[in-house]
Amino acid sequence: MSGQSSYRFKQNTSIPAGAGASPPAAGAPPRILVIGAGVIGVTTALALQAHPALQLGVVPSEASAPGSSLPAVAFHPRLAGPVSPQQPAPQRSVSAPHVEIWAADFPPHTTSNVAGAYWFPFNIHPAHRVEHWAERTKQEMERWVATLGSETIGVRPSVMAHVEPHGQVSLAAHKSAADERPDVQIPAGHDMVDGGKTLLIDPDICLGYLFARFLEQGGVTKRKFVNDLSEALCPSLGFDAVINCTGLGSRELVGDARVYPARGQIIVVKGVQACPTVYSVRTGPLSLGYIIPRMHDTVLGGTYEEHDECMRVRSETTDAILARTRGLSCGRLTAEGSKKVEILRERVGLRPCRDEVRLEPEWFQLDLSTGKVFTHGTAASGATPDSARYASRQPNPGHGVPSQQVSRLVVHNYGHGGGGWTVAIGCAEEAAHHAVVQLAQYRDALAAVSARAHL
Ligand SMILES: Cc1cc2nc3c(=O)[nH]c(=O)nc-3n(C[C@H](O)[C@H](O)[C@H](O)COP(=O)(O)OP(=O)(O)OC[C@H]3O[C@@H](n4cnc5c(N)ncnc54)[C@H](O)[C@@H]3O)c2cc1C
Repeated sequence: MSGQSSYRFKQNTSIPAGAGASPPAAGAPPRILVIGAGVIGVTTALALQAHPALQLGVVPSEASAPGSSLPAVAFHPRLAGPVSPQQPAPQRSVSAPHVEIWAADFPPHTTSNVAGAYWFPFNIHPAHRVEHWAERTKQEMERWVATLGSETIGVRPSVMAHVEPHGQVSLAAHKSAADERPDVQIPAGHDMVDGGKTLLIDPDICLGYLFARFLEQGGVTKRKFVNDLSEALCPSLGFDAVINCTGLGSRELVGDARVYPARGQIIVVKGVQACPTVYSVRTGPLSLGYIIPRMHDTVLGGTYEEHDECMRVRSETTDAILARTRGLSCGRLTAEGSKKVEILRERVGLRPCRDEVRLEPEWFQLDLSTGKVFTHGTAASGATPDSARYASRQPNPGHGVPSQQVSRLVVHNYGHGGGGWTVAIGCAEEAAHHAVVQLAQYRDALAAVSARAHL
């Protein structure tokens, strides 16, 4: 377990010494801050707004019972109904949690908006957790489509075919793919390696819709670049928990050296919708060829360039993408009969990669007299809200609890690499669950201390 020696925040941005603080009052609606407004931040904020335990304004003790299962967060009923093009009036009920998003950039200016996107866990780890998150996400997205329709939510069912040039596919790959292989036209000169059902996602439509729902349900936003977590943990702000969904930004925000970028360049073209299949081929260590036919345009990709942070569109890359996707398009990569592809946009995004997604709670202790912030470590490393809250040796004689030390919960949800859209909802549910369980333990611990003080 890491202790106070693991202090790692910038000294000059620690909380103001002596800033007032009080623990979250039992029964009061929780106040939760999400940092980040990409697909991970927005779905996490929705999961918090919809979480049954937080809805009541009471975090029940049962939430902390060992073996309690992950609640299925019902996204879809709250998503039903038309979205007003104007900013909707907040409708937060008095007992609903206060959920706020702070972000440097909001949709449509996030990496999540640059993604293709289609449902496929690409370069995201660890496999056993990703499988669960991806399945949950697929399930919920299919329900959105059934409830709202593809046009509204920007998601539609499709099939994907991963192909390789003739002669490069092993017999084993042929065999394993045989059962799942969709019945689609294979581009000339290629064999299918793998394939199956998928979902096509138009990130601008989907994220725009989800973000509008967050606002409509009383969500609050603030454009703010957070230099240091202590800015969000400051007790005078009164947040019971902070959820870190900053993607690549976590490299600096929490000093995580395991986070790194993988550059992706894509082009958005007009006129290939007649082809409903996602075609994808790996053409080299840095280059991929894929065609993602969305509802109103088509994405041609792409690249996967690790540790390359250049946000400039490279014209030579655009030419290379056009060349390799033309071979995948089964002759359809032309604009309305002409032989020239009409390019609508060229875009670059940096995938927030990590050797594994970081999705876990971490407790911090704030020393109000010095303004210092310390981590007490993650739940996995043995830290608990109890140990974090009462580690101080400065008891308050009146109540038997330290007056100058407060604990604050951070749940990390970042590092989704090339598969953030594929796992977003599964991860959002798990992040909300961590917040509920940890806050319940914290309140139980406070109640126990208070009871002891009155004996
Ligand atoms: C070209 C390309 C194609 C892709 N295709 C697919 C695909 O087909 N399928 C798929 O599943 N995935 C795909 N991905 C991956 C997917 O886009 C990412 O995994 C996903 O967008 C990560 O979401 P996020 O919310 O964590 O990050 P982001 O979208 O980057 O959001 C991060 C948020 O945090 C904010 N932020 C960061 N630091 C700070 C700070 N210090 N203070 C305040 N705010 C901060 C940002 O402003 C932003 O709001 C693709 C990515 C690219 C680039």
